[in-house]
Amino acid sequence: MRLSQLISKTQRQDPAQETALNAKLLIRAGFIDKVAAGIYTYLPLGIRVLAKISQIVREEMDNIGGQEILMPVLHPKENWQKTGRWDGFDVLFKVKGEAGEFALGPTHEEIVVPLTKKFIHSYLDLPKYLYQIQTKFRDEPRAKSGILRGREFLMKDLYSFHANESDLNDYYKKAKGAYDNIFKRVGLEAIETEAAGGTFSKYSHEYQVINTNGEDTIYLCPQGHTAKNQEIIEDQTECLECGKKLNIEKATEVGNIFKLKTKYSEPFELYYTESNGSQKPVLMGCYGIGISRIMGTVVEVKNDKNGIIWPKSVAPYQVHLISIKDQESSIKNEEEVYQKLTKAKVEVLWDDRDVSAGEKFADADLIGIPVRLVVSKKVGDGKIEWKNRESDKTKIISFDETLKKLTS
Ligand code: ATP
Ligand code: MG
Repeated sequence: MRLSQLISKTQRQDPAQETALNAKLLIRAGFIDKVAAGIYTYLPLGIRVLAKISQIVREEMDNIGGQEILMPVLHPKENWQKTGRWDGFDVLFKVKGEAGEFALGPTHEEIVVPLTKKFIHSYLDLPKYLYQIQTKFRDEPRAKSGILRGREFLMKDLYSFHANESDLNDYYKKAKGAYDNIFKRVGLEAIETEAAGGTFSKYSHEYQVINTNGEDTIYLCPQGHTAKNQEIIEDQTECLECGKKLNIEKATEVGNIFKLKTKYSEPFELYYTESNGSQKPVLMGCYGIGISRIMGTVVEVKNDKNGIIWPKSVAPYQVHLISIKDQESSIKNEEEVYQKLTKAKVEVLWDDRDVSAGEKFADADLIGIPVRLVVSKKVGDGKIEWKNRESDKTKIISFDETLKKLTS
């Protein structure tokens, strides 16, 4: 991609009326545009990050047997009345149309359970695991955290269906493994944290990333024995296992998993027939991940005074190519480098603009692509300056070596 062709432009100044660090950096670097509080457009650079995160999540969900579907955003009112959540869900967006009243889906139990009722009849149809990656809507009262808390945001939600509790428990463990993989792969250190369980189990589990701007407070054993959300902590100040004083940290919840048991299968009468012919409600679990919140969290924890520092796995491009027009042939030279890298399937953002070297370097740091390559007369013919965004280390190597490093 040629930077001169991008719709977005970088901004030197922080956007007005934006207090969240993730939004400031993402707007300045041209990843997102603010429409209103909690409502953002994802620009070409931003959409590539969301796509990378989504793909990692998709691979890990497929790996634990998930089948991908896409459910609607518009949910008939009756479905939400059936579970008592038409009036009971505090952040539900409601819309009225010619065809009646609808909820804008904030979560999808009210759709996925009636769906599975059409296909799950017997113990032979269980277990099943369905997931989607889709835009959710919530009328969040405080939407001040940039893309960490959108009124419209991208979520992965998986729902599991089981014949018995031990099967649900086994799958719950498997899902934890998949979640650990996901957070590692996107470059986040997420702590599995006990949280309020809701109606049907003692605890749910949240995946929390320590972040000074986080909205949650968690209590951590310094030895790693336990992690709890403040909501359930009561008066405990020491680890029950080792007696050490618990550390208190601000954090952002990037995912959570719940045992729903029969909370939604009962109201929709999602029953299955056992081998002995008796009827039983299906047991369920649900497993959420905030895809857009992950993007915001990565920015919150991976940045320096100059801009964002993307982990390779979710960076919009692998290489930020910069040419410095200090020689006649440089245009031809850099065009060749760009073509060769692109041909080798390296994702390159090429700063081909007619602006100063200083401006190009500042933008490269702000955008935060892992590897910066510079072609110039000073660097030399057939040579490239390689700079690592994270370590800030620079070296000059041949083009062939560059290509080898990027494609290995
Ligand atoms: P929170 O406690 O932060 O409001 P939640 O417990 O309501 O989140 P879930 O309903 O379980 O969240 O949603 C699953 C995941 O979706 C969360 O773990 C989080 O990563 C993400 N998420 C929830 N609400 C938002 C939002 N308003 N904007 C962006 N991501 C969100
Ligand atoms: Mg929560």
